[in-house]
Amino acid sequence: MGSPLEPFTYHHSNIIDSGTKVSVTVRNRISNGVILSQTEKPDFDTSEILEISDFYFEDKQIELARFISTYYFSSLGEALNLMLPFHKNAAHTKKELNLEIKIKLSNKQEKALTFLQKHKTSLLFGDTGSGKTEIYMKYFELMISQNRRSIFLMPEISLTPQMNTRLEEHFGELVVIWHSKLTPLQKRKAQEKIFSGEAMIVAGPRSTLFLPLKDLGLIVVDEEHDDSYKSSSRPRYNARDIAIYMGKIYDINVVLGSATPSLSSYEKFPHIRLKGGHVKSHKKFIYEQSVETLTPLILQYLRETLEKKEQSIVFLPTRANFKYLICGDCGHTYECVFCSVGLSIHQNSRALKCHYCNFTQAIPQVCSECGSGNLTSSRLGTAEAVKNISEELPEANVEQFDRDVITTSSKLKKALKRFNDKESDILVGTQMLSKGHDYHGVTLAVVLGMDNMLNMPDYRSREKALSSLIQVSGRSGRAKDALVLVQSFNELFFSEYIENYEAFLETEKEYRKGLYPPYKKLCRITFSHKNGIKAKEEMQKMYESLLHCINIEIVGFGKCAIERVANKYRYEILLRSDKSTDLIKAIKMTKNQLAEIDMDPLEFN
Ligand SMILES: [Zn+2]
Ligand SMILES: [Zn+2]
Repeated sequence: MGSPLEPFTYHHSNIIDSGTKVSVTVRNRISNGVILSQTEKPDFDTSEILEISDFYFEDKQIELARFISTYYFSSLGEALNLMLPFHKNAAHTKKELNLEIKIKLSNKQEKALTFLQKHKTSLLFGDTGSGKTEIYMKYFELMISQNRRSIFLMPEISLTPQMNTRLEEHFGELVVIWHSKLTPLQKRKAQEKIFSGEAMIVAGPRSTLFLPLKDLGLIVVDEEHDDSYKSSSRPRYNARDIAIYMGKIYDINVVLGSATPSLSSYEKFPHIRLKGGHVKSHKKFIYEQSVETLTPLILQYLRETLEKKEQSIVFLPTRANFKYLICGDCGHTYECVFCSVGLSIHQNSRALKCHYCNFTQAIPQVCSECGSGNLTSSRLGTAEAVKNISEELPEANVEQFDRDVITTSSKLKKALKRFNDKESDILVGTQMLSKGHDYHGVTLAVVLGMDNMLNMPDYRSREKALSSLIQVSGRSGRAKDALVLVQSFNELFFSEYIENYEAFLETEKEYRKGLYPPYKKLCRITFSHKNGIKAKEEMQKMYESLLHCINIEIVGFGKCAIERVANKYRYEILLRSDKSTDLIKAIKMTKNQLAEIDMDPLEFN
């Protein structure tokens, strides 16, 4: 199990049920295995199964693993290794459930819940503060009353202590919070509750999908647009898409929830719209045309907020490993003429390059729009921003709030507590700032370098930029009026859609049709090797075989945007097709040892 190898044949004197976890020797080492099927005695010698365990995988888990291994190009062992098996002797005790029904829904929420119950897979498209969580919780209650279990998927569970508390306060022992940072003791307790069946709701990040739960009745995927649902190591599955697939094989309902849904879910599934927050607050947006720096205007607003003894958050886009060219005077940027994605500055060759199709142009000396020579590629880091703000506003307590500093959930809890107790005045951070935390006293949100997100060499850059801005601005003005200061040359784009994400999705449809998901399937193949020539040769070989495949299009091939990672040179091929089956067929026929397949890729670095 967990190895990239294909299935082997073994023997044992007893008949063993398929799905049973066993111990076997593989190349003289003892290893875990799973019985897939029985077979006639083959004409070659087989070794004996060493030990039969009390753990087993259900047929549906194996079916799911087979799908994952085919669709995402992993071995069956790697796919099964994602899953936790059932325990044979686990006593499935039926507990008397006397859950006090506390959740009262508004009429609008009731209507939404009825809609979700009626559809196999549906989208709850609800603004921040519109009460999505209560709807989920009510739905979980209904499931419990039918003795059925629910999975509640969230991005990076350890990062939303407020949600955990809410679930635990309401569901008590019936809920298990599952995540990778559990201590060994916490993990053992959680597993016991899962094996015994006491856990009726399991909440957590993507691995939660693969826990052994009997009588599954519902899967909720909150923040369904979030990229952390996609695994970045093999199998490179997307948990949201797997949840939808599980809905089919288990014949249960799947609810996708978001304030800023992905175009893919919006296009594919029926949705119900929930507007407005409970607390009506007024938000004013101000746009400043400048590149990613702390301008005098930004510092002035931060100072004024501080003087009023109110709090601010400062948002910087996630550090991307690419640079692009922007005109400091008019904000003009450079796009690929074929792909409508931003061109990145290529380190060595002094060129602008498209990492989808390889289109290349020389770095211009002056702006092609306004003739200015003020072309720049500067970016500001979180630590640097904290330092600069502290220098300008020495009386302010400024905290860095990103992955570099907030490394554990206890650090997160403490930082949030300091901020909510007003011990700190300004939080400076990346995406982490926008992840579902409640900041009660924030009256100013500064959003820096929005154009960096908008110009990413990624077909989803508009979706990502707009949804980030909506999420960040949703963090301010929870109690009173708030100001959102947006640094961007693209006021027209943001102001048109900031309060109307639906209109954005409708426009985005037209832009993506014929080119990008959800209308086309993409697959990215990367080749990494210490020897750059070897990586390039393997890429070339596969490229040439792919030329003979039908119903697929080779969008581009060449060096990756990040040419070297961990001392390995990287090359890539990007494929496009109407159907994933055609991609899978073509790749199966042409795949080589070095090829790493990423189906439905979200990263193009
Ligand atoms: Zn210009
Ligand atoms: Zn291109």
